[in-house]
Amino acid sequence: MHLREKFLRAKVAVSGANFAVAETGTLVVVESEGNGRMCLTLPETLISVVGIEKVVPRFADLGPLLTLLPRSSTGERMNPYTSMWTGVTPGDGPQDVHVVLVDNGRTHVLADPVGRQALRCIRCSACLNVCPVYERTGGHAYGSVYPGPIGAILNPQLRGVGSEVDASLPYASSLCGACFEACPVRIDIPEVLVDLRTKVVEAKGASAEGVGMGAMGWLFGSAGRLGLAQRAATLAGRLSRGRMPRNLPGPLSGWTNARDLPAPPPETFRDWWMRTHDADGTRRDGSDR
Ligand code: SF4
Repeated sequence: MHLREKFLRAKVAVSGANFAVAETGTLVVVESEGNGRMCLTLPETLISVVGIEKVVPRFADLGPLLTLLPRSSTGERMNPYTSMWTGVTPGDGPQDVHVVLVDNGRTHVLADPVGRQALRCIRCSACLNVCPVYERTGGHAYGSVYPGPIGAILNPQLRGVGSEVDASLPYASSLCGACFEACPVRIDIPEVLVDLRTKVVEAKGASAEGVGMGAMGWLFGSAGRLGLAQRAATLAGRLSRGRMPRNLPGPLSGWTNARDLPAPPPETFRDWWMRTHDADGTRRDGSDR
């Protein structure tokens, strides 16, 4: 009762909006219980803080969006309380309406050819409901008001990948694709996650893993180099007579902490093939294996 009394006396209300219509200046709030409508109707002044991605061009564009949102969110055919404000009406509702359009990184997201699709999100939460990672971690793990798969692609784009939590979010996924299947506006969340992982790696700069991958790329980029390396490995294996180390040294030891380093075979596959096959690929001993 005490809280309701406070609400009834409030002079100013601050609200978000699910959509804003450029054609008419209409603000749209979609909610389940009607509390938002009560709060936004009684005060004299309404301040609506709206992300710029919520702006749709025409009033008619609301039709498909208001159909999609409740069906994808709560499975309802129609949303219970959909409130729309278009300017002010003397004697009815707030008499002073201010709209604050928030960019806060959104134009930066819009400029990204892969990541921009995240701005299509209508916050239905269908991707959250099907995500096996979100199901186990809960929303707080995402460190933002945007949790779940959409949070994992939106937060690192809006805030950058500089912090520990934002750099980890693109990895908070098994890339199973359940979010993409559930999304009513077809945001390819796994595609954006993989793209963001690239950005995280690039932001980190040179690392032991990066240097290792570069060296492997150089090695695998030439059949001659690969053949030489394989022969060197088999030679080392033969000379060591079974005393090859089972653990890698230094920063590479992390890889062998849980695995044995396989001993090189006494002969490379290529050498075995050349020794046992003719130039046309048939076995010299006549067998088919
Ligand atoms: S990304 Fe798609 S499924 Fe997830 S909340 Fe946004 S619109 Fe809904």
